[in-house]
Amino acid sequence: MIPYGRQSISDEDIDAVTRVLRSDFLTQGPAVPQFEQGVATAVGAKHAVAVNSATSALHIACLALDVGPGDLVWTSPNTFVASANCARYCGADVDFVDIEPSTSNMSVQALNDKLVAAKQRGRLPKVVIPVHFAGQPCDMREIAELGQAYGFKIIEDASHAIGAKYNNGSIGDCRYSDIAVFSFHPVKIITSGEGGMILTNNSDLADRSAMFRSHGITRDTAKFKIVDQGPWYYEQLALGYNYRMIDLEAALGLSQLRRLDEFVDRRNELARRYDALLEGLPFVGPVVKSDRRSSFHLYVVRLPRADREAHLKAFLALRESGIGVNLHYIPVHLQPYYRELGFGPGMFPEAEAHAQSAISLPLYADLSPDQQDEVVAALQKAARHISL
Ligand SMILES: *Cc1c(COP(=O)(O)O)cnc(C)c1O
Repeated sequence: MIPYGRQSISDEDIDAVTRVLRSDFLTQGPAVPQFEQGVATAVGAKHAVAVNSATSALHIACLALDVGPGDLVWTSPNTFVASANCARYCGADVDFVDIEPSTSNMSVQALNDKLVAAKQRGRLPKVVIPVHFAGQPCDMREIAELGQAYGFKIIEDASHAIGAKYNNGSIGDCRYSDIAVFSFHPVKIITSGEGGMILTNNSDLADRSAMFRSHGITRDTAKFKIVDQGPWYYEQLALGYNYRMIDLEAALGLSQLRRLDEFVDRRNELARRYDALLEGLPFVGPVVKSDRRSSFHLYVVRLPRADREAHLKAFLALRESGIGVNLHYIPVHLQPYYRELGFGPGMFPEAEAHAQSAISLPLYADLSPDQQDEVVAALQKAARHISL
């Protein structure tokens, strides 16, 4: 089976992890701050806080922005459940903003309309979490303008998008947001095994994130509420977690970071090759807007129209041919957990249509042209089989 995504591990990566195993620190040593500094520099953010997953990063990003019971957080329905769950962890309510069909990213028009209605009802979101689907940046300038107008904060779920570019900047530089979050899960662009990172230009948000990462504890004497009692002394100022990244993970992440540009170039190259190979086939390829560069975490094609039956048949045929196609995403609002909160079918029709037509094809740095040809041959066969 050709998987839809997988890591690329070099001898240098293995050496980097092995060096940590032979060193004094498996966790809380020098590799974590080095990785943080490396990513902050690579994307042009002032501060970086490494954690054990993007899920944890999203959670403490919400905590750092003071999201709590009674607050409202909006995100895209076309995402992994973690983008919405982070608000629920804080006791906040979640709602969704439908996607635009061309990029499957949050629609600025839908966001605008929903804000107008929310203002009338007197319940605006405290935080909006746009998700850079498949690695293509959202319309961040427009979203940030709406943030200014309506007073919400912005967390970019950039789990797909390290290495992506937008309007002459890098995703993660937080030019249009308060916080951006990366994931280093093995299917993402670079990996640390498990891992995530918070990027921000706001030192207070960085400090608060670091505190929530480690039990809500600080060792910064300037922040103590009670008087410093000695060299052993620390204070717990809030209810935090153990969301720390370990040095083994950070060493792998730092080693992978050296190949970030190479990985993103390679993914873009393979995406262009798919574009060419798919011409004449009844699948609609991804569209990338002109002022941005996708990191191509995913290469998602769509059937010419939403068709539950044809979609299922295409999946079964492709899996039968040994192609590990996947669906990104089952709309979050259709998950049983969210249905129990009052969501249901028909509420976000573009995300639902996406889910009845989208197919993620294999795409990763080590995918060979031969394997890619195999994928396209399987697509041709599937198209004939279900007479698309
Ligand atoms: C992968 C992913 C996450 C969660 O990342 P983890 O590091 O696995 O916790 C969150 N949001 C999106 C959009 C993702 O793709």
